Amino acid sequence: MINLEKVSAGYLHQEVIHAVDLKFEAGEFCAILGPNGAGKSTLLKAIPGYLSRSAGEISIMHKTLEQWKRKELAKKISLIPQDFQLQFDFTVTDLVLMGRFPYTNSLQNYSHKDKSKVNEVLKLLDLYKYKNKMFSQLSGGEKQRVSIARALVQETDVILMDESFSHLDINHQIEIMNIITGINRQLGKLIILVSHNINLAAEYCDRIIFIKDGRISKDGKPLEIINKANLQEIYGMELEIAKNPVSQKPYLLYPGYEEK
Ligand code: ADP
Ligand code: MG
Repeated sequence: MINLEKVSAGYLHQEVIHAVDLKFEAGEFCAILGPNGAGKSTLLKAIPGYLSRSAGEISIMHKTLEQWKRKELAKKISLIPQDFQLQFDFTVTDLVLMGRFPYTNSLQNYSHKDKSKVNEVLKLLDLYKYKNKMFSQLSGGEKQRVSIARALVQETDVILMDESFSHLDINHQIEIMNIITGINRQLGKLIILVSHNINLAAEYCDRIIFIKDGRISKDGKPLEIINKANLQEIYGMELEIAKNPVSQKPYLLYPGYEEK
């Protein structure tokens, strides 16, 4: 579904990801993990072409990025950015409605279907009570849920999420992870999630990719990938790993305070 071949990308004076080869298939639920500054957000932004590449080729559903019209591509792939910021303030409803832009001719011209989709997703993400509130007046976790809602109404086959759970309380983390997993399993959507939460990724995702210094370091199933040796290599720390007694998935333990 998505194919990256020898992709290098980054910013004006700095190449961040180097010659990355990656393939993603429909129905995968994949987490990208790695230290701060490893290039996770850069990689995610490069996939739909939000960053220009210095080398390599990206194709989505057998067409290269250059062959896609922007609006058509926006029906296939959505990205929830790490820092969702706005030039101007909007109400929650208007902001989420903007996620329907690939399906409209002009911004004023949303259909009844667009509006009912927005209401449905606002209810799903526990946001309906804030529908007329200004985005700037929401808490960090509520803002994050709005950015997820905006991507869900876009109804794409691929959803890229960049640390979209970092501000959510445990209740919303679990609820929204269930919603996303449901979308993944029932509708076969490809989900690629960047996160620092190794336990969350191990529990829900079926593929883990570790990135270090702009390169793919490990790629496989959680049970194969999340082990002491790999975590030592990626994060430079010795960490204990237990097994979740219910799901049998790997589970990372904090060592607690150690007096030196
Ligand atoms: P991660 O998401 O893995 O924490 P990023 O992909 O955001 O890392 O950043 C990788 C590197 O690129 C970092 O060294 C960071 O400083 C740099 N970087 C990120 N965004 C920009 C930008 N807009 N302009 C210049 N450099 C950037
Ligand atoms: Mg990032």
